[in-house]
Amino acid sequence: MRRENGGRIDRGTTLRFTFDGSEYTGHPGDTLASALLANGVRQVATSVKLGRPRGIVSAGGEEPSAVVQIEAPFPEPMLPATTVELYEGLVATSLPGQGRLATEPDPARYDAVHAHCDVLVVGAGPAGLAAARAAAGTGARVILADERSEPGGSLLGTRETITESEPDVLGPQEVIPGAEWAAATTALLDGLPEVRVLRRTTVIGYYDDNYVVAVERRTNHLGAAAPADVARERVWRIRAKRVVLATGAHERSIAFAGNDLPGVMLAGSARAYANRYGVLPGERAVVFTANDSAYAAAFDLADAGAQIAAIVEVRSAPGAACAAGARERGIEVLTGHVVTAAQGDGQLSSVLAGRLRPEAEAAVGERELAADLLLVSGGWNPVAHLFSQAGGTLRYDEALGTIVPVACRQAVEAAGAAKGVFTLTGCLADGAEAGHRALEAALGTAVSERYTPPRATTETPTAPGTAFWLVPATDYGAHFVDPQRDVTVADVLRATGAGLRSVEHIKRYTTAGTAHDQGKTSGLLTTAIVAHALGASVGELGSTTFRAPYAPVSFAALAGRDRGSLHDPVRVTALHEWHVANGALFENVGQWKRPWYYPREGEDMEAAVLRECAAAREGVAAMDASTLGKIDVIGPDAAELLDRLYTNLMSSLAVGAIRYGVMCRPDGMVFDDGTVIRLAEDHFLVTTTTGNAAAVLDWMEEWLQTEWPTLRVHCTSVTEQWATVALVGPGSREVLSGLAPDLAVSAADFPFMSWREVEVAGLPARVCRISFSGELAYEINVTSWDGLRLWTAIMDTGLVTPYGTETMHVLRAEKGYPIVGQDTDGTVTPQDLGMAWVVSKKKPDFVGKRSFARADTARADRKQLVGLLPEDPGFLLPEGAHLVAGAELPEPPVPTLGHVTSSYRSAALGRTFALALVSGGQGRAGERLYAPVGGVLVPVTVTSHVLYDPEGARRDG
Ligand code: NAD
Repeated sequence: MRRENGGRIDRGTTLRFTFDGSEYTGHPGDTLASALLANGVRQVATSVKLGRPRGIVSAGGEEPSAVVQIEAPFPEPMLPATTVELYEGLVATSLPGQGRLATEPDPARYDAVHAHCDVLVVGAGPAGLAAARAAAGTGARVILADERSEPGGSLLGTRETITESEPDVLGPQEVIPGAEWAAATTALLDGLPEVRVLRRTTVIGYYDDNYVVAVERRTNHLGAAAPADVARERVWRIRAKRVVLATGAHERSIAFAGNDLPGVMLAGSARAYANRYGVLPGERAVVFTANDSAYAAAFDLADAGAQIAAIVEVRSAPGAACAAGARERGIEVLTGHVVTAAQGDGQLSSVLAGRLRPEAEAAVGERELAADLLLVSGGWNPVAHLFSQAGGTLRYDEALGTIVPVACRQAVEAAGAAKGVFTLTGCLADGAEAGHRALEAALGTAVSERYTPPRATTETPTAPGTAFWLVPATDYGAHFVDPQRDVTVADVLRATGAGLRSVEHIKRYTTAGTAHDQGKTSGLLTTAIVAHALGASVGELGSTTFRAPYAPVSFAALAGRDRGSLHDPVRVTALHEWHVANGALFENVGQWKRPWYYPREGEDMEAAVLRECAAAREGVAAMDASTLGKIDVIGPDAAELLDRLYTNLMSSLAVGAIRYGVMCRPDGMVFDDGTVIRLAEDHFLVTTTTGNAAAVLDWMEEWLQTEWPTLRVHCTSVTEQWATVALVGPGSREVLSGLAPDLAVSAADFPFMSWREVEVAGLPARVCRISFSGELAYEINVTSWDGLRLWTAIMDTGLVTPYGTETMHVLRAEKGYPIVGQDTDGTVTPQDLGMAWVVSKKKPDFVGKRSFARADTARADRKQLVGLLPEDPGFLLPEGAHLVAGAELPEPPVPTLGHVTSSYRSAALGRTFALALVSGGQGRAGERLYAPVGGVLVPVTVTSHVLYDPEGARRDG
């Protein structure tokens, strides 16, 4: 079906490709769709629900039907054949509705870039090119983005000509084909340093503050031609002062029987195949239209050698130029007629046309016309997706029979066909105007030198059409509204029959407009069918919401370089090398690798942990505590901020002192805990749990930025700036004193919960007397650079046993210190943890305070933290085990009293123990409960959650 000549393809080069196992050829410049049509392939997909054959309907991203699977060189599911550029070795298969994701990761790179500009123009048709041209060459930064491989938009698919008015482009007053004007204008724009023309770049989302996201397919996207150092796809995150949306218009179909048959095509698209790709999509065509633009398609196809069987014209007469053109070519025009059915076995072979009688239920006087191509034009829909996403409002224009943009709170305007301007001269002028306005607004000054846009010398006729949607019939079962979802007029009527009225509800009920094309050609048609069923007007019902992305985006593009370890980075402390060299096994805590325990020759975890625990309780042990979150909080209102976020009072803390604190969510549930160190009147260092460090910083920023913007405070993460070593055990004072001869270490000179700045092992350090084990302990902080030297100096004393997170857990659990996220789960208050003392009664307010006045937080049967001692002292309860009251299980559902949150073997207690959240637990000390474990009820005794050193005698050594 390839024409002898014409088309913007490189006929000198042949590309081989495979579709459904058969080999074909095409040329650079082809899409997969144009190459398939050139080879006479009509059916390219099978519909998802009904299994009907489907062909190629459009020539662009609006394609509702020809969705294919790409197999090679890299598998990509569900691409419209109309947007896949042909390349050597392409292998594609037709799709039965759904695609398949690749099973292997794509070896190619995917990137993201940020860009800023004064004027962003989306769409490089006549309007967009004129807009970019008007804004360019003025010093303003201009970006012009178009989804197609070649700028020019609809000009590439027509035979329209243009009179250029700018001598620097092609000489004054020269009449040139529109496509040539587009190429010359693009070359001019490409040559300007402040202008960036992005080809193959689809703008997919429009967000607040003129933040626009686009996806660029580099070179020919999947093609092997992509150089290895070029990413396959690139996400552009663009911030533009002004945006011009020159995104054109999508032609829409008409609902009639069999309108999904391969061979039924949008008129403007058939025209594009003939002109842009040099392909005749059929030999004998019928045209079905209610507007003038389809005549241009009929004439272009006729002039290219196709036979036009008839133009089935809904109106009583077309525009004069159209009538004359038809007469000239001897084309019969059946006015007042409609197509009642497209017929054929697997593809179109004939068309039934009949007279439209408004009073009749169906068209009458049917006539059968042999045809392998049916061109349909139900009218044009401005591509208002991005305008709507930007927050713009749309209205239905009765005269145009479509929706048009109205106004937007963002710095954006639509131009050309996207605004409902449907003539070429109009689009050129409108684009230039929009470009000037955007430029002046972006620069903030008037611009004297103005670009004079060219005029069209021949153009597609646009006498206002009739909005025509539906061919009346008695059976609507094959009148397709959304072919990709197999939604018919009958389905829409079923929805309205079920009482649905809103187009949004009907969209969900029928799934019309929810497919891969997001209803680009079917959305407004659905509304019109609903309006027809309800006796309402299209304008009253409006369109459904347009949401990002405008076109499907690959997961790989969204992920970009954030894959593997770049997606989930591994964080290691400054001491990591030492831990590895000394045989530590590691535990993942968030992204951190933390030493879990350090087994010696022949030791299993249990033996190693018992040994490490004993060292901490009886001698000296040290742990790498660098992963604790650290946030520097500074400013005149720093104390005030902390008072509002922590449940207890922080402003009363003396400089030099440290206080433990808990943060709650507004619902009163524990969010995080840690210590607050006061470095100066206006300066604190806050520590958080390892896993919550980012969340706590986020939390502080959120409150500061949204609720308390007047507080003068800065919060900065300093987690990675410090290496922290916990030196623990009754012998820790002596070891520290040896390493820090200048430090007065006695309990009186250096009391619990205070800090000192001093040299330790010759390194500047901040030493805090904090204990997470109950033992005498110090947390020594040095800069990360010095971390390894400090640790090595401590280990070189030969007195200190290194310990990991497992031992830390046992030591803290023996003391009843909860771990946020292990012993809490977002439903636990500080009071439930036995920490009523940490909740201030005096402070006027803090986050969570109001919730402690709610009846629910005062319930006596709330789950509270308790200790559990299995009656068999060697039995280790599994964490997560449930607790029940009786020695026998009742019939299910078994009422549970709570569950085990932490469970360990204790060297200090010489037995196993556990922590648990138990309903009314604080009043159950001494009670016997049972844990069903492996079919056996294990008896346990409830105790205080503090099992070791309850009087706190050990913390001063
Ligand atoms: P256009 O259709 O020529 O160009 C729009 C361009 O924007 C296209 O290349 C399209 O691929 C691109 N685009 C759309 N959405 C995009 C996105 N999200 N990201 C990137 N690119 C995107 O539009 P225009 O410049 O307004 O010119 C319209 C032309 O079509 C005029 O010549 C007009 O006469 C003609 N037209 C005629 C009729 C008629 O009834 N005769 C109707 C509609 C349009």
